[in-house]
Amino acid sequence: AKSLGRNTYSFFTKEMNTVMLRRFEIEEQMHGALERNEFELYYQPQLDVKSGNIIGVEALLRWHNSTLGNISPGEFIPIAEHTGLIVPIGRFVIKQALRFLNVWQTSQHKKYTMAVNISPRQFRDLGLLTFIKDCLNASNITPSSLEIEITEGVLMSGQSYIHDALIEIEKLGINLSMDDFGTGYSSLSYLREYAFDVLKIDQSFIHGITTNEADCQLVKTIIVMAHSLGMTVVAEGVETQSQFTLLTELDCDFVQGYYFSRPKPAEQLLDFSVHYKP
Ligand code: C2E
Ligand code: CA
Ligand code: CA
Ligand code: CA
Repeated sequence: AKSLGRNTYSFFTKEMNTVMLRRFEIEEQMHGALERNEFELYYQPQLDVKSGNIIGVEALLRWHNSTLGNISPGEFIPIAEHTGLIVPIGRFVIKQALRFLNVWQTSQHKKYTMAVNISPRQFRDLGLLTFIKDCLNASNITPSSLEIEITEGVLMSGQSYIHDALIEIEKLGINLSMDDFGTGYSSLSYLREYAFDVLKIDQSFIHGITTNEADCQLVKTIIVMAHSLGMTVVAEGVETQSQFTLLTELDCDFVQGYYFSRPKPAEQLLDFSVHYKP
């Protein structure tokens, strides 16, 4: 039993070393990644359930590093948050996304929307709102075309600078979207506190919507609640025709997911949206 204990111990140590080494390498590579132009935005379409038209996209960050290969945002965003590198990286995202939106809107004469994810650490950047305003002006984009997606994590800290930033976002006429709705503990109380325009139902609820009665009832109830509070609803992670049909019946406003399109690089998204027929 003793030797087993020791093996177990060394096993965990090895595992921990691997995890820590990977983290260290990612952090090290991330430092020069912006300068080396290794980040790229992908765009995933959001569709209007009633008309079937594309109404906008969500910007999703991709990182290709010559040493580490492709690293998923699920892995590198938390590290970028922890180190604070999310601040310059996040500014790059906002700038690129709005530049692309300008090209997209003018080439197709439509008022598409752009949803950008902003994580908690980015709000500690007190110049964030000024930066966003400057990017909107430089790209000639009306504030209501921009949607800022935040999760409950942003609101939980209760910091006054976050409160101020959210009020400022509202004042500027930028839309505020509650991401991953249903996964947190206190999202409901935040809906009361801030004027969210959009509610995104987390994909974990959408996944079981056609097979699990409880999931279906929850989604149905969330949609009714969101509408009664004046919010529009986006279902994320829609992967099948039957999920889409059911969401249509439940009066969901917008849908996003692999069933319609995976996130695509700028050029491909432009091409996709030109040829898309509902
Ligand atoms: P999120 O904001 O909840 O983004 C949705 C994620 O679901 C994306 O993963 C997207 O590719 C994926 N997805 C979309 N449709 C489907 C589907 O039908 N099925 C499945 N299984 N997945 C689908 P991704 O791109 O890997 O991003 C992961 C997370 O990383 C995002 O979750 C977001 O929290 C964060 N993230 C991505 N880009 C940025 C960014 O520019 N800034 C910040 N702060 N966070 C970002
Ligand atoms: Ca999001
Ligand atoms: Ca608003
Ligand atoms: Ca989400």
